[in-house]
Amino acid sequence: MNAPSIPVLTSRSLEGLRRTLRGQALTHGDEGFEDARMVWNAMVDRRPALIVRCSDTDDVASAIRFGRDAGLELGVRCGGHSVVGQAIPHGGLVIDLTPMNAVRIDPDARLAYVQGGALLGDLDRASIAHGLATTAGNVSHTGVGGLTLGGGMGWLARQFGMACDNVVAFQVVTADGEILTASDEENADLAWGLRGGGGNFGVVTEFTFRLHPVTGRALTVDFFYDEEAGPAVLRAFRELVAEAPRQATPTAWAGTSAEWPFLAPELHNTRMVNAGFVWVGDPEQGRSLIPAYRAIAAPIAEAIDEVSYLELQSSADEPMRHGMRRYWKGHYLRGLPDAAIDAFVGRGGATASADGWQPDGSFQAYGGAIGEVGVEDTAFSHRDALLEFVSVASWEDPDEDRARIAGERRFGAAMEPFSSGVYVNGLADEGATGVRHAYRPETLARLTALKDRYDPENVFHLNHNIAPSGARAQTDGARSDQTLT
Ligand SMILES: Cc1cc2nc3c(=O)[nH]c(=O)nc-3n(C[C@H](O)[C@H](O)[C@H](O)COP(=O)(O)OP(=O)(O)OC[C@H]3O[C@@H](n4cnc5c(N)ncnc54)[C@H](O)[C@@H]3O)c2cc1C
Repeated sequence: MNAPSIPVLTSRSLEGLRRTLRGQALTHGDEGFEDARMVWNAMVDRRPALIVRCSDTDDVASAIRFGRDAGLELGVRCGGHSVVGQAIPHGGLVIDLTPMNAVRIDPDARLAYVQGGALLGDLDRASIAHGLATTAGNVSHTGVGGLTLGGGMGWLARQFGMACDNVVAFQVVTADGEILTASDEENADLAWGLRGGGGNFGVVTEFTFRLHPVTGRALTVDFFYDEEAGPAVLRAFRELVAEAPRQATPTAWAGTSAEWPFLAPELHNTRMVNAGFVWVGDPEQGRSLIPAYRAIAAPIAEAIDEVSYLELQSSADEPMRHGMRRYWKGHYLRGLPDAAIDAFVGRGGATASADGWQPDGSFQAYGGAIGEVGVEDTAFSHRDALLEFVSVASWEDPDEDRARIAGERRFGAAMEPFSSGVYVNGLADEGATGVRHAYRPETLARLTALKDRYDPENVFHLNHNIAPSGARAQTDGARSDQTLT
């Protein structure tokens, strides 16, 4: 698809907008514009007409009204981690929430008031200073906004539920520029939809999170095994997942090693599998699980570390840094049959073709408190997941784009027969088909009714789109090209 031309904004209309804003309105040539249009995935290289760096909720409302009046597509940016760069419409308007990253903690009420542009690290640092935390994802530069609105999985989720389960109130600016509160008491239908329905219903300018006491200590345990032992390791892993206490989140991985310091040099860049877990709580208690992992098979390497909660939460920041080219696939699994294990260890099958690159893949266990929330209680639909499968490709050379993406698609397709659905935040460019796999049919019908009520013209369509049922809906999701290839 050809990129649409960039609308010309008159200096008069821009001046009017600038007068109403506390924040900035950036166009081509303005200082900061080039940085502000880049997101996590370096494949995303679009030029919006306007980036409104919002300072407060009124700025968000002004940006929505201005964009609608000017006929611009609206993107909403928090952490910029959408793999297809949904926040950045070519020729459109970016509602950039990143200046709105304040976090205020009420330690007595155990609540965190978090602005809609905050990153997970902002939330973790502010809350752990009081011996408190709530579920956040595994990389500290992910946005609270996108992660929470899609569900929000993290190392505390088996103890305390998904991030969205811990939100007690949302402040939302709707497509009409109206400012609403959504909670179990007020606009409860909207609160239901915001707990998993993504950015479809408005811009959340503040989340109020419930916090929980935590020790601030964590234990990470990784055992590495020969690839040949993979099926036996994964079968044992399946048993360990079933028995794991909630402080533990079992993990497994199949891939090709890098030059990790804990590996002997002859094991660098070799194919292997891994099983382990992350423990948040008293590390001594966590160590009681280690013998069961050691007994699976003879490990070729191991890495066992006691870390602070903040170290845990940022331990993947560097490998997951901004500026690399990326693509990903994901699935939920309700069980782990032997055939799924073979597909996982096989990493998408043969590599003989020119597109012969095999991605790594990982499993992270769900269960515990995640499964105790009723499936009808939130828009997030996959309460019965046992495991989340994720495969993320990272590379630098644009000439590898085709092979890398093809490898991911092969791995995703190999795991699909065992899929019970997908995590909406794990979707890439699957479009409406992906959205249907992200929600139960009953949930999707309810989300569509909610969209009809709060955004019947699909102003917020640059997301994993819940299309409204009305005639004016843009059923194809976006006018700007949001695909990567
Ligand atoms: C490195 C990395 C690690 C990840 N780890 C995890 C993990 O551990 N657990 C997990 O659950 N997910 C994880 N994810 C997936 C992540 O949850 C999604 O990519 C999510 O969309 C990122 O949100 P963001 O705010 O950073 O991204 P953005 O690209 O800024 O936003 C994505 C979309 O979310 C919506 N949005 C964002 N903020 C708001 C807001 N305040 N109001 C309304 N709409 C908003 C918009 O529709 C926007 O287009 C990870 C992703 C990456 C890249």
